Amino acid sequence: MLLNIKDLHVSIDGKEIIKGLNLGVNYGEVHAIMGPNGTGKSTLAAAITGREGYEITKGEIIYDGENIMDMAPEDRAREGIFLSFQYPVEIPGVSMTNFMRTAINEHRKYQGKESIPAGEFLKKMEEKKKLVEIHSKLTKRSVNEGFSGGEKKKNEIFQMAMLEPRLSILDETDSGLDIDALRTVANGVNVLKTEKNAFVVITHYQRLLEHIHPDFVHVLFDGRIVKSGGKGLAFELEEKGYEWIKKEFE
Ligand code: ADP
Ligand code: MG
Repeated sequence: MLLNIKDLHVSIDGKEIIKGLNLGVNYGEVHAIMGPNGTGKSTLAAAITGREGYEITKGEIIYDGENIMDMAPEDRAREGIFLSFQYPVEIPGVSMTNFMRTAINEHRKYQGKESIPAGEFLKKMEEKKKLVEIHSKLTKRSVNEGFSGGEKKKNEIFQMAMLEPRLSILDETDSGLDIDALRTVANGVNVLKTEKNAFVVITHYQRLLEHIHPDFVHVLFDGRIVKSGGKGLAFELEEKGYEWIKKEFE
């Protein structure tokens, strides 16, 4: 199992947000996590990646057989955990190309490997650009500088393609993603999915799941996964909304 979360409790500023959450993700799987706003979806993503300020008070996060709770966030990233919008910053004067080269070399160094040879890097850039359908005009610009929301999103999927994480967590904010950007995200997951990685796609709306086909759908409510199912569950939520979940579990 790639990710095994057991009885996880997470607090922010002493307030418990995640209240006993269990989730198992195997290699080759795509999981969707849905749920009303404010129920802890982003908190879960932050806890997995180790963001500061998210205190795990109980439970375990096992990644590839190892308890990662004491691992620094950057080491979790180097171990192959990718969180969308982990690098949303604008970096004036640094092109995406150079930024990616540095990021890849940091990961390689951590793995005890030499820096990526120039030719190999360029080849990889071209390959991945094609794969996630990103234009060179974007990769030549400074990282995220003046990018629209959709361009940032494309950039991020490109970063994911280049870094080849084992576990990708895509936390899709509820606003601002146009159809084009949604397609980029969905296409990214579909073309990058292999038997050696897994995706956790967090989304408020079922819309994204029209293009991504999750193996499992989970409903997060009040800090717990209250319901799990297949793709049908997403459609059920789309039809019935979240009200019935609230009634049943509040
Ligand atoms: P979701 O992603 O499901 O919309 P979040 O995980 O962002 O929900 O938030 C869950 C709860 O935690 C909300 O009640 C929110 O107000 C609270 N919360 C999130 N981040 C912080 C923070 N940095 N400080 C205090 N409370 C927070
Ligand atoms: Mg959120």
